[in-house]
Amino acid sequence: MANLRLRAIEEIANRKVVRYGVPGKASEYYGENCFSLDKMKATLAPAVFKKVKQAIETGSKLDLETAEAIASAVKSWAVNKGVTHYTHWFQPLTGLSAEKHDAFFSYLSGIEGFSGKQLIQQEPDGSSFPSGGIRRTNEARGYTIYDPSSPIFIMDTTLYIPTAFVSYTGETLDYKTPLLKSLNALNKAAVAVCKYFDDKVNYVYATLGPEQEYFLIDKAFAALRPDLVLTGRTVYGAAPAKGQQLEDQYFGSIPGRVLEFMKELEVECLKVGIPVTTRHNEVAPSQYEIAPLFEEINVAVDHNLLMMEIMRKVADRHNFFISHHEKPFAKVNGSGKHNNWSITTNTGRNLLEPQNDLYFLTFLVNVIKAVHENADLLRASIASAANDYRLGANEAPPAIMSIFLGETLTKVLDEFEATGKFKLDEKKNYMQFGISRLPDAPKDNTDRNRTSPFAFTGNKFEYRAVGGSANCGTAMMVLNMIVADQLTKFKAEVDALIKSGKKKNDAILEVCLEYVKSSKAIRFDGDGYSEEWKKEAARRGLKNIPDTPDALDFFIEKKYEEMFERHGVFNKRELHARYEIWQETYAKKVDIETKLMEELAMTSIIPAAMAYLNELCTTMEGLKAAGADKKEIADLIKEIAHLVGEVKERVEAMRADRLKAEAKEGTAERAKAFCHEVKHKHHEKLREAVDKLETLVADEFWPLPKYREMLFMR
Ligand code: ADP
Ligand code: MG
Repeated sequence: MANLRLRAIEEIANRKVVRYGVPGKASEYYGENCFSLDKMKATLAPAVFKKVKQAIETGSKLDLETAEAIASAVKSWAVNKGVTHYTHWFQPLTGLSAEKHDAFFSYLSGIEGFSGKQLIQQEPDGSSFPSGGIRRTNEARGYTIYDPSSPIFIMDTTLYIPTAFVSYTGETLDYKTPLLKSLNALNKAAVAVCKYFDDKVNYVYATLGPEQEYFLIDKAFAALRPDLVLTGRTVYGAAPAKGQQLEDQYFGSIPGRVLEFMKELEVECLKVGIPVTTRHNEVAPSQYEIAPLFEEINVAVDHNLLMMEIMRKVADRHNFFISHHEKPFAKVNGSGKHNNWSITTNTGRNLLEPQNDLYFLTFLVNVIKAVHENADLLRASIASAANDYRLGANEAPPAIMSIFLGETLTKVLDEFEATGKFKLDEKKNYMQFGISRLPDAPKDNTDRNRTSPFAFTGNKFEYRAVGGSANCGTAMMVLNMIVADQLTKFKAEVDALIKSGKKKNDAILEVCLEYVKSSKAIRFDGDGYSEEWKKEAARRGLKNIPDTPDALDFFIEKKYEEMFERHGVFNKRELHARYEIWQETYAKKVDIETKLMEELAMTSIIPAAMAYLNELCTTMEGLKAAGADKKEIADLIKEIAHLVGEVKERVEAMRADRLKAEAKEGTAERAKAFCHEVKHKHHEKLREAVDKLETLVADEFWPLPKYREMLFMR
């Protein structure tokens, strides 16, 4: 039997680099396929454009007249570029983006017709998207509603209209709607607090710069790894002799084939208006990063999702399989999506930019306090079956929430706590990145902040615990909301003090001081990867929740039910529906991985080991006849035979528990059974036996591409 794995190796050894060539001047194509605000301004009547801007900033509804004007302008623009179809592009709770293309053609609007109604609202047959029971199938209607705050764009020959997805009864069924609602809450709460300092502030928005990590594996290998294709991660695979221990990959020179991919990817991103700027090798072999400039958060989340989609398409053209999965390979780093987050006012002030004033102190301290008070929910917001493999693994922040502030800022807050006086030297460098020339940046601080799930990095927070494949809208929605909630409380406390006769600044200082003291436990600048931190965190009362089904429970705690409702992000029904969907998704993912492990063990691993055993036994008989047999060879046969037996036995035990888990009634119960009775009880042990076999069975018999091949051959 021809070994397909060896054929793949041959194919890859002969691969030609797909040259992309010189991308040309970015200024000539940046945004060419994006119907940006500038284009709207140029094509719409001033009065109409004013209405659009207003809708973006206040979240107000577009009237039909304005919609007609936009529809007509965007259609002419698109048709001139050869576009034939349009689609409402939305983010259902499957975690992927969804699209259904329609031609610019209808009996009402004619050939190349496109009306305002078609722009603002559509009714895709959404009955197959998860709704957590919100839509009964007999009223399975869901609507997509145009979101004017995210630019329309063209891909291939289709016009993409970013939309929110809601049910017939108005309940949210997607990731975008709650994010937009959280932004409303943040805007309201933050503007109210800004008014203490600056009367001209009337609009506050969050910004996000998501750094995206990913792996590129040759397509020929991926085709032979059903686990990689179906689940995004390898369920088996012995560690290669060389992994990332030499640390020779991080920021190393980018391999030629990969660089060609990156060039094309960047051009494609820039064309649709995604401002990508940064590219480099990551720590693990075959791992890379791409990062855009930050944007308004709703646009940034859309752009991240779109970028992931473009990445898949471009990777394919370069004969790569791309994985955004949080942990595609055991024993080397996984992929995160570091969410750089800040808040900015309409007057252009970044509220987290260090300045020697109460204004900065207020926002810094409120974010810290928000994370301290709501660490559980923040932890839950990044929970997924995939991220569980990464969090707490040796390269990723642990499942314990904490905040890294860096030495300089910590000193400032400690002094404030001790003296009641706030003083910040604006000339100091608050970006404690390990450039040893900077006096405030001792070298080990770099690595330290890298181990923190939530690190202050100069003028923003970097939420590092977010997973690579996640729609980061959920993490950002939670962050926006808890900060909004905290700012609302802050305002109430300050106002109460003012009412009781305190001067405004004294009142602000007093509440800030109290917050600095009461939120101290969440601040940690040490090594988040260490065992001591786990113990220290427990002493501080910080929770360590390693598993998604348990973390998700925080979402439906009464405290949070009320908070979501208070800020208009979710009503109780919506929240519980989402909780059900997430638990269900977890159960399904572990179920699929488990079945795949069973299948691969029985149909690939055991047959390969048996074939090799057969050869060994035949050889052994020959040796015996020649009087040249050795005990060690017999031992090898025994060891392999024993492992085959063990694999079979473990598969059966796992299958029995899987069936039990599948039969559980409630969604959360099912998820927890899959987590504790299937995954933790069986996966690792079965994998160990299989991986051991991989190191014993002759190379030419082994069917699955090996780590050393997938991670190092390109
Ligand atoms: P590093 O890898 O050192 O953390 P990168 O340069 O890869 O840094 O990414 C930093 C990200 O932070 C970029 O996307 C950048 O645009 C973003 N960023 C910078 N300032 C802000 C801000 N005020 N709000 C949100 N994101 C920001
Ligand atoms: Mg980076």
